Amino acid sequence: MGLLSLGTPLAWDDAKRYADHVRTHGITQFLSIWDRLKDRCGDELLWGDEIEYLVVSFDNEGKNARLSLRQTEILAKLAAITSDIASARGESASVPTFHPEYGRFMLESTPGSPYSGSLSDILSVEDDMRWRRQLARRYLKQDEIPYTLTSFPRLGVPGVFTDPYFDPADAKSSHSLFLPEEITNPHARFPTLTANIRRRRGSKVAINLPLYIDSRTPRPFVDPTIPWQRNIYAEDPEAKRGAALNDHIYMDAMGFGMGCCCLQITFQSCNVNEARRLYDALVPVAPLMLALTAASPLFRGYIADVDCRWDVISACVDDRTEEERGVKPLKENRFRIPKSRYSSVSLYLSDHWMHRPEYNDIDAPYDQAIFDRLQKHGIDSILARHISHLFIRDPIVIFSETIDQDDENSNDHFENIQSTNWQTVRFKPPPVNSPIGWRVEFRSMEVQMTDFENAAFSIFVVLLSRAILAFNLNLYLPISKVDENMARAQKRDALHTQKFYFRKDVFPPGGPSRPESRCSSCSSSGASSPATSPVDGTPRKEKKLRNCWPSVPRPANGVHAKPVEDEYEEMSLQEIMFGKADAFPGLFGLVYAYLDTLDMEEEERVKLERYLDLIKRRTDGTLKTAATWIREFVRTHPAYKFDSAVSQEINYDLLVAVDEIERGVRHTPDFLPQGAKR
Ligand code: ADP
Ligand code: MG
Ligand code: MG
Ligand code: MG
Ligand code: MG
Ligand code: MG
Repeated sequence: MGLLSLGTPLAWDDAKRYADHVRTHGITQFLSIWDRLKDRCGDELLWGDEIEYLVVSFDNEGKNARLSLRQTEILAKLAAITSDIASARGESASVPTFHPEYGRFMLESTPGSPYSGSLSDILSVEDDMRWRRQLARRYLKQDEIPYTLTSFPRLGVPGVFTDPYFDPADAKSSHSLFLPEEITNPHARFPTLTANIRRRRGSKVAINLPLYIDSRTPRPFVDPTIPWQRNIYAEDPEAKRGAALNDHIYMDAMGFGMGCCCLQITFQSCNVNEARRLYDALVPVAPLMLALTAASPLFRGYIADVDCRWDVISACVDDRTEEERGVKPLKENRFRIPKSRYSSVSLYLSDHWMHRPEYNDIDAPYDQAIFDRLQKHGIDSILARHISHLFIRDPIVIFSETIDQDDENSNDHFENIQSTNWQTVRFKPPPVNSPIGWRVEFRSMEVQMTDFENAAFSIFVVLLSRAILAFNLNLYLPISKVDENMARAQKRDALHTQKFYFRKDVFPPGGPSRPESRCSSCSSSGASSPATSPVDGTPRKEKKLRNCWPSVPRPANGVHAKPVEDEYEEMSLQEIMFGKADAFPGLFGLVYAYLDTLDMEEEERVKLERYLDLIKRRTDGTLKTAATWIREFVRTHPAYKFDSAVSQEINYDLLVAVDEIERGVRHTPDFLPQGAKR
């Protein structure tokens, strides 16, 4: 979440009057940053993860695992503890930080300072994650445990799923049939976000996840746990009037999606152009990593027929009106908007020649006046399209105290729109008055149950991103195909059942670049050490992960010799990861080729291989994804009735088991490699 400003939030009818004000000043703020920092160049690789947790409170007598709603107290305690550690260790100490999240049962942690590109930093990621978990664990109550579980299986079931219990009848922000008001972080921003999304949309959000139909699931499945006849809020009848679909798990509130946990990685780029290239390169990678990290097969007490959170979270903040969704003709609103504000990327962003305009092949409306203003300011049409596309959205939460801002020294209005465009990849301009540069955030991954896995996926993505830079890889696919991949990635066991669109030839014309060439932008050495040995001219191995793209000359003619349709094909994830004979070395092959350019000790290499092996074995199926493991745990539990339902008892045992896995006391050779826990 962005900055949590304090103040008085406006209800939707008041907030919407300031929408243009926020957009106009948001653009002014962006332009002020742009003017100051567009030429900033030479930033080194700094990067960091964000890990989200759910805190579970165990009622061991009643055998119930519930969500603990003590976020406020827990965060205060962790802030005090981390500040004590910091003062004991001195100024330069890097002590983890904990942040609030949407759910009152959630925490987010980040490393105290970003990692660099040094191998020792890369190899410290797991320890850093473990340290954060240890801190969270140590300062919770005896019967509380922090989990990195993507979805809580029994969020929104009838009865007791929170500690303390609250009745959903009091859900005054969401009007949910299932989630009480107290599920939401009490900071004014969150209830207001919830209520204003509902008000702007004109109805509750509606999420229908396909139910996993088991041998004794009643058909058609008409969910007996929906209070069909409740009559407290005006929206209560929506469920029976068609919002809730049979054979689906129906959810009606922001908390179902924003209450999910994920793993995000942010990279600092050398400069703005390289950030834009990295953004584009990661767009087609996002669905692949979603399929590989799939970890959420259970929602609202049922087994879903999907493995991922993405569509739930996308629908749970869908504030589009009926006009915008195309249910009614446009009258009051300005745009038909094909996607929720939480969705996959709709436009590539780079102005590099590899980016063909044909790749942007889906409808991505943009605000013409904002586009014109940006262009007039000298911003190229591709970046102008990106920003003016994000800015078709209204600001949802406005605080009366911060309507008037100093546009030179604040980016709040810009961030208001930017940070509520939740896409698979985010282009992050530098904050005002800070040393931080142009960044790209990779946002599709599901959080994994253990820090070994979270470290492995973080490290894989950082290495892949460096291979992309070093070899000047071209991963462009039409955006419509990336979207199709997003849909496929969420399907049950997508890793082994789906094919994904992928580029046939990922190398630039003339073959892979030599990674030792100089940076294309700042003409410094892209690498951390001189490109070649001064003695014999052989390529030097690098000590640190690079942060620059070598230049790739634009071929004089025949740049795009092939029609776009001939550039890609459907491949299995095994082919994408391991390669296809003679044609494509696979993402692993590319990562290994990149590792060969690094100067590393045998011991470091062995440590890195452990992480890569986990992902290899998930890919080849010798280890299960978290989603498959969880689904099987439920289906083989003695109390499971093959009716798609996850009972209180099964949920309790599942959470006990997940904790045992995390602590390394439960042996799961089909899920984690031997010795994953040190
Ligand atoms: P968000 O706005 O997405 O919630 P956070 O501030 O929670 O972002 O976390 C972003 C991540 O970026 C953290 O892991 C942090 O360590 C990392 N980070 C901080 N500074 C930089 C930087 N200059 N470049 C790249 N990453 C950074
Ligand atoms: Mg977060
Ligand atoms: Mg964060
Ligand atoms: Mg965030
Ligand atoms: Mg933040
Ligand atoms: Mg983030």
